[in-house]
Formats: sequence, structure tokens, C-alpha cells
Amino acid sequence: MFMAAVNTQTSTNNPDVVVVGGGPVGSYVALHLAKLGVKTTVFEEHHAIGFPSHCAGHISIRSLRGMGLYPLPRGIVENTFCTANFYSPAGTKFSINLSCPVTVVLNRAHFDQYLAGQAQAAGASFVLGSRVQSLLKEGISVRGVDVVQTDGGDQKVYSKIVVDAEGVSSRLLRQAGLSALKPRGLVYAVEAEMENVQNVEPNAVEVYFGKSYAPGFYGWLIPRPDSSAKVGLATNTGNPQEYLKRLMTKHPVASKQLAKAKITSIGYHAITLGGPINRSYADGFLAVGDCASQVKPTTGGGVIFGLTCAKTAAEVASQAIAKGDLSSNILKNYQKRCHDQLNFDFLVMLRLRRFLDSLSDERLDEMLRVCGKLGVDKALRDVDEIDFQGKMLLTAARKPAMAAALAYFGLLYLSANP
Ligand SMILES: Cc1cc2nc3c(=O)[nH]c(=O)nc-3n(C[C@H](O)[C@H](O)[C@H](O)COP(=O)(O)OP(=O)(O)OC[C@H]3O[C@@H](n4cnc5c(N)ncnc54)[C@H](O)[C@@H]3O)c2cc1C
Repeated sequence: MFMAAVNTQTSTNNPDVVVVGGGPVGSYVALHLAKLGVKTTVFEEHHAIGFPSHCAGHISIRSLRGMGLYPLPRGIVENTFCTANFYSPAGTKFSINLSCPVTVVLNRAHFDQYLAGQAQAAGASFVLGSRVQSLLKEGISVRGVDVVQTDGGDQKVYSKIVVDAEGVSSRLLRQAGLSALKPRGLVYAVEAEMENVQNVEPNAVEVYFGKSYAPGFYGWLIPRPDSSAKVGLATNTGNPQEYLKRLMTKHPVASKQLAKAKITSIGYHAITLGGPINRSYADGFLAVGDCASQVKPTTGGGVIFGLTCAKTAAEVASQAIAKGDLSSNILKNYQKRCHDQLNFDFLVMLRLRRFLDSLSDERLDEMLRVCGKLGVDKALRDVDEIDFQGKMLLTAARKPAMAAALAYFGLLYLSANP
């Protein structure tokens, strides 16, 4: 099993950059800052990196490879997938079978520890059990953080730039003078570790759509070879745990797959689907990852977009420090570069999310049947891009079946949103 050694007793004297949060995004910012020679300290409120884990860890191989993160060391990848089975609430199935594995499911705790270990090896310091309570400010400029150790003690740490990678809790945004995450963009997730899952293909992820089981999002089952699985869903209304119970007992397909399943652990966490926040920089401050809502509005996947923006944040912060200008005038380049890279995909995915949210369960059933009849599965067979979904759709739309399906979806969308 992979275990990163992360210092807990590291000096916090005068870092150039303080990073708030030792999740994947915080560690990846720290890794790139350290590689650029910037003195960096990461504060993580928990005593261990990667815990508690709240994420399914379903990630595209192509994107990981593009970042130089694939292949990963042993013990991080739990399974690989070349098939996705989509179900309507009535049990209609539509499958996409790809020619080779396109996604992996990661042990998120081990992945987070791996990234933290890489950052530490590059020279970044990690201080665990240390919660950033507030930002230190001079006028409108952020100048550092006030840190509270969980075993007592309070410390002021001054820096040139603070990078906020605190995740969806996003408590520091307002202190920096930025807007908080929009509550309307949030869905509330439950994810359980389950044993003894039956009737699943070993290399297929299961996706359960529909307002009856997961209003505002979907349910998922991600199997491992040993018949265990990560099973979860998110909703924009009601109690996610009640919906999970309903999925396990009432869904025509999931109830059979989970009839004998045993829940070994369960966790709850919010997912932000509203698209990137309007402004993710201030004087001496950058917001990255979930706290900046750099998350795919369709699937809730935030690791790849968060890491993409993390690298950009490190580059812009390092340039600002080298120039001796930490003002928002320089730091706004971070937002511009992220926007140039991701905005088209975000716009497409926000519309797709609205489209999916607008469909009744009956329409969803019809849609999956139509996808099957039109041969959308064959049109998507060569797809290996699942993160940058705007660009992916542009490519796929060149195939007649996909073009016909998109025209049909467009009509459905217009009839649901006159
Ligand atoms: C149920 C669920 C399933 C998901 N599945 C997937 C998936 O399959 N694929 C995918 O790509 N994404 C998935 N996501 C989204 C993914 O988990 C996030 O996008 C990703 O973890 C964002 O990383 P981050 O570093 O920005 O935030 P986080 O991973 O939340 O890390 C933030 C860190 O900051 C620390 N912290 C917070 N506040 C403070 C503070 N004040 N001081 C010090 N430390 C602090 C926290 O302890 C935490 O370690 C899922 C999310 C959920 C809820």
C-alpha cells in the first residue's frame, strides 16, 4: 500500500506562499510552486492527508496522463473502466462501450497522499492539524493567515500570496472580498462503501438517472474486482440518505445489484455544479479547486479541472512574486488563463446540466431509448475525452447518429424551456 511521508513539524517561517488545504488541488499548487522555486507552506486542518475521503475518485486516464500523473504508483488505481451503463428510473438501459479503458477509479486518500508526497519532495512544507481560521489583511490586500492548531495554539503566518484550496466549504472567500459559492449550484451527496455487490460488469460504471432517485444529479455505482463498490448519489432537494435507501430498495436495476450489499462506511459532502465563481483573485489571494467551483456541472468531477487551474495558479503566483507585484492587476491573469482554457467546456456543461434537470423521468426514459435506436453508442465508441465535454461534443457531432441525437436533445430542451 502506498503511504506518503508528510512532515508535520515543518518550519512555517516566512513562506512566499501559504496554501490553505492539503486536498489534491492544494498539494498540486504546492508541487508546482515548489518546482518553480517558491517557498511554500500548506496548512491542512486534519492530522492526515486524504482523510476523511469524500470522493468517488473516478477520473479520466487521458487527463491524468496529460498531466504526467499516469501511470500512478501501485495501490492508487482500484479499477479501470471501458463501459458506462446509463439507466432511466424505469430501468431502460443505454450503454457506451469504448474500445479500451478510458477511466480509472482511484483510492482518493492514497492519491491525495501521493500528490502531497510529490509536493513535499519538491520542497513544499506541510503543516497538519492546523486550521486556517482567518485571513490577515492590510486594507484590501491579503497578507497571510491566522492558523489554529487542533491541539491548541494560534499562529499568525505572513506570506506574499495566499492560495485558497479549502474545498467546497469556501469559508475564506468572503474575507478576501470575493462572492461565496452560489447555494443554488450546490447538490448534496452521500457515498457509501459497499461489499457484496452483484450483477455488475467488472469494468463498467453504473449511472442511475431520474428525479425519483437523484433529483438534480444522478446515482452511481463504481465496482472493484473484489465485488465491493463505491455507491452514491447527490440531490438538490430532500435527504440524500433517504434517496440512497430508495435506490437500493426500489430501483428496478440497482435494487437487484444491491440486494445483498452491506454498507461498510458512509459519508456526506456537497458538490458544486454552478460553474466557476465570477472572480477568483484579489490582492495577494487566489482561489483554486472546489472553493472556486472549478467542477464539471454535468458529472461533479472536480479533480482534473482543479488540478488544471492549480498549475496555472502556481505559474501566475510565481510570476507575480518574481515581479514584486502581488496586486490583483497581475493575479487576474490566473482567472483569464483558466477562462481561456475551460470556459467553452463550462458553458456547454452548464447547458447540459440545465437540460438534464429539466427532463421528467418519462422524458429521460424516452431519451435513453432514442439514444439506443439512433446508435449513439457506436458514434461515441472512439471517444477518449470525457473531461472537456464541449470539445468532445464538437468532435462527436460530426457523426450522423450523434448529430441526430443532439438535434433531438435540442428539441427536448426547447419544449421543456419554452
Ligand atoms: C461524493 C463525491 C464524489 C465525487 N466524485 C468525484 C469523482 O469521481 N471524480 C472527480 O473528479 N471528482 C469527484 N468529486 C469532486 C472532488 O472530490 C473535488 O472536486 C476535489 O476533491 C476538489 O479538491 P480540492 O483540493 O479543491 O478540495 P478538497 O478535496 O475538498 O480538499 C480541501 C482540503 O482543505 C482542507 N481544509 C478546508 N478548510 C481548511 C482550513 N480552513 N484550514 C486548513 N485546511 C482546510 C480540508 O480538510 C481538505 O483536506 C466528488 C465529490 C463528492 C462530494
